[in-house]
Amino acid sequence: MADTLAAPDIAGALAWAREHIELMDARVLLRHVLQCSAARLVSHPEQRLAGPDWSVFRTLVERRAAGEPVAYLVGEREFFGRNFLVSPAVLIPRPETELLIELALARFGSRPGSRVLDLGTGSGAIAITLALELDAVDLTAVDASREALWVAMANAARLGASVSFVQGDWFAALGEERFHLIVSNPPYVAEADPHLADGDVRFEPQSALAAGPEGLDDLQIIVAEAPRHLERDGWLLLEHGYDQACAVRGLLTDAGFSEINSWADLAGIERVSGGRWPGRP
Ligand code: GLN
Repeated sequence: MADTLAAPDIAGALAWAREHIELMDARVLLRHVLQCSAARLVSHPEQRLAGPDWSVFRTLVERRAAGEPVAYLVGEREFFGRNFLVSPAVLIPRPETELLIELALARFGSRPGSRVLDLGTGSGAIAITLALELDAVDLTAVDASREALWVAMANAARLGASVSFVQGDWFAALGEERFHLIVSNPPYVAEADPHLADGDVRFEPQSALAAGPEGLDDLQIIVAEAPRHLERDGWLLLEHGYDQACAVRGLLTDAGFSEINSWADLAGIERVSGGRWPGRP
């Protein structure tokens, strides 16, 4: 990729990029460099790139060709209709996690004064979305990673969401606090799963992905400790792996939850399980 190449027009830049990466990714990267709409790329193929823009675009294409996720290269990803800042300190929000949001909204509606907790908030996508979609609820979001919390706080400020951020390991920093709804998309991939060495996932924080030999270590801790932090009739909703629904329902049963259920994502995969805490027997 010689430096002496003269800057091409939009069509030429995309044609060059296509030799190295997917066209869809090339379009997202070029829109990011030119700060323009998708429509403009199509309507002005003859627009010549400025030298510095061409140089930045080439670097981004090279990095994408070497495997870096597009979301990290452009620094953001859409989730539930809003753009969230992301960095390699946080997991890139996934479309399947929108199921967790829909279930929380359906179960919860708006009950002013209610307290909601998001464990392992990462970019803050779940907590911030719930804070913005549910009126007048009190949102707390926890993460063990200080770097992740910086990203989440920047997102809350940018999107105008009011969320209390707490650094800590799951419930460790929450004392005796209780909530009406606890949600989490914890790490749930088995340590030896070859998926962790695949594609975009290679660049994501392992601490947000892997959880013990079966991927259940963190789900186990959360289910076991949630009862001490749920109000009577409060809900616990957990995202998990494609083959973990049965195991998570088992954990919920053992911990004494009621109304235990699993819900399928758009691909038909049971992706979220949860239950209601009936209160102390
Ligand atoms: N769904 C993600 C993946 O398969 C994992 C997310 C998680 O561990 N919370 O890459």
